[in-house]
Amino acid sequence: MLRSHPYGAQFLSAKDSPELFEALDERVLFRYSAKNPSVSDRLEAHAAERFGVAGALTCPNGTQALRLALLATRPVSGSRIHIPAVTFVAVAGAVLSLGLIPVCVDVDDNFALDPSLLPEDAERVIVAHMDGMVAPIPQGPEFVIEDSAQAMGGRHADGQAVGSVGFAGTFSFHHAKVLTSGEGGLVVSRFSHARDLMRSYSDHGSAREQGKYPQWNEGAFFGENLTSNEAVAAVQLQQFRALDHILERLERHHTAAVYALAGVDSVSVVPRTVGDPKVSVHLEFDDPRTRTEVQAELDAAGLPSWSLDKYLLPDHPVLTSKASLFADGYPWSLDPEATHVSRDGFESTRAHLARRLVLPLAPEMSDGEQDDLVARYVTALGAST
Ligand SMILES: *Cc1c(COP(=O)(O)O)cnc(C)c1O
Repeated sequence: MLRSHPYGAQFLSAKDSPELFEALDERVLFRYSAKNPSVSDRLEAHAAERFGVAGALTCPNGTQALRLALLATRPVSGSRIHIPAVTFVAVAGAVLSLGLIPVCVDVDDNFALDPSLLPEDAERVIVAHMDGMVAPIPQGPEFVIEDSAQAMGGRHADGQAVGSVGFAGTFSFHHAKVLTSGEGGLVVSRFSHARDLMRSYSDHGSAREQGKYPQWNEGAFFGENLTSNEAVAAVQLQQFRALDHILERLERHHTAAVYALAGVDSVSVVPRTVGDPKVSVHLEFDDPRTRTEVQAELDAAGLPSWSLDKYLLPDHPVLTSKASLFADGYPWSLDPEATHVSRDGFESTRAHLARRLVLPLAPEMSDGEQDDLVARYVTALGAST
């Protein structure tokens, strides 16, 4: 293996973390007891400005960010939430954990939810920008949540930030993502009332003022504790300062790789759009057998590569089993009739996934190191095909 840490983890820096030392020196890591504005407040203000939204809220991870965004749509229990057929299982888990039913919708050539397949009465849709591929936003449904966990820093065709266009956008700071604090989540919205609802739910349904014991207004709804802490916010602020540099270095590596791979006859590089954060290079092969052979060659050369096969949710045990820790099978039991939406039972998506191979890119490398790495891939791919 070339490296032990991906993307943002390479750029974690104690030297550039004054907010972390500040919080430790204050001896207060709980955001609502910290001085005003807290590190978490500053992080949220930074994120809201960067993404051009009314409000942002930190939370423990990307899965919780999805749950908060879904709750802010005030759904009816047992109702159907349309989600992409190709995404991380956290999306289905977030939906189910709220007593809602995930309905997988088949995807387009870029593995993005295909809006043309949505039923006319679809009200709530989650789209996912998978592996930096910026997905289109469906126009009909009232609530579109952009799962941007794999596309931090991306832009839509009109220049708007990924996560800022739908009702809400969610981000993850898991170790493997573009920016990281080990674990961490962020949810943003164009609607300040949505941010207020999520903030209240994440603090036991309270209307807490900074520095005070929580206070519950008349008609307060129940909540949970999904508050994120000051140390994590400090690391996330540090990571945000590295974001443009990371995106620029990924862009450079991607350009170099695409240029060099154009010289390898039997390899087809999948084009990316301008606004995609270039987290990887995608190759497409004529048949699954060739992909498997190429993957074995790259493995033998010590060069990392992976597939997106694991993301096909209709084949995922969590969805095929319809199992639940609730003794009565909740929430599946609320809507046993719900079926996925596909043109062909996901056959062409399955086949498409089996021909796709992902090569990771390394923003931490110098120009020379990136070029050397590209050359090693070119040699291995040239030999194998
Ligand atoms: C990582 C990821 C999540 C979940 O984020 P966590 O912070 O790990 O909870 C959700 N959706 C997608 C597409 C992801 O890649």
